[in-house]
Amino acid sequence: MTQILGGLKKGLAFVVSAPAGTGKTTLVRMLVEEFSCVVESVSHTTRSPRPNEVEGRDYFFISKPEFEKKIQAGEFLEYAEVFGNLYGTSKKFVLQQQEKGKHVVLVIDTQGALQLMEKMEATFIFISPPSLEELKSRLHRRKSETEEAMAQRLSWAQKEISLAGRYHYHIINDHLKIAYEVLRSILIAEEHKTGL
Ligand code: ADP
Ligand code: 5GP
Repeated sequence: MTQILGGLKKGLAFVVSAPAGTGKTTLVRMLVEEFSCVVESVSHTTRSPRPNEVEGRDYFFISKPEFEKKIQAGEFLEYAEVFGNLYGTSKKFVLQQQEKGKHVVLVIDTQGALQLMEKMEATFIFISPPSLEELKSRLHRRKSETEEAMAQRLSWAQKEISLAGRYHYHIINDHLKIAYEVLRSILIAEEHKTGL
């Protein structure tokens, strides 16, 4: 049967950035659930797991010395410090999935995305919240931050939003269903580009 997505021998890479609390995890999980040919890159981080997070699904949780060893060994496609913790994308994970024909979605911050714009063929997608007020209420709803961390995330969010123009696509996550429709359309269009 012809499928709407999943027809390439080598998968594509998609880089998604959005301020914390915008809804990028929600949107990317929807993609992974709908399409078996889409996988999310599982990053390494020195941050401690949140109560609902699972090792190997959400992140590989490692210590700072372990992370530094991986930097020295050249294992990361990119890495960055975000809110005092280190986060990095595994080169091996991404390449292996692409070789299997899977589209890989890297959900990373703007510092990491800017590094990759210089050196990797990928489609760059920025997701914004409809407003900073709404972002605040989503962060509250998620209950994963202290008040101090919340203020820090909101101020960083404004800096990140100012970089949206550097990405190929910009989606505003106001109504979830509409934002998802745009996101899935981008993947479908990219797979049908000529010259791949
Ligand atoms: P991120 O991964 O960007 O930090 P999450 O996916 O964890 O964000 O979403 C943050 C919160 O906002 C969650 O409670 C999620 O259910 C909610 N959310 C996501 N998208 C929307 C939307 N379009 N409208 C309202 N709430 C949303
Ligand atoms: P959180 O701690 O809320 O899961 O993520 C904080 C920020 O780190 C988010 O913007 C998230 O996209 C980003 N992030 C997660 N993994 C990586 C990664 O591998 N590299 C970079 N540069 N950022 C990442």
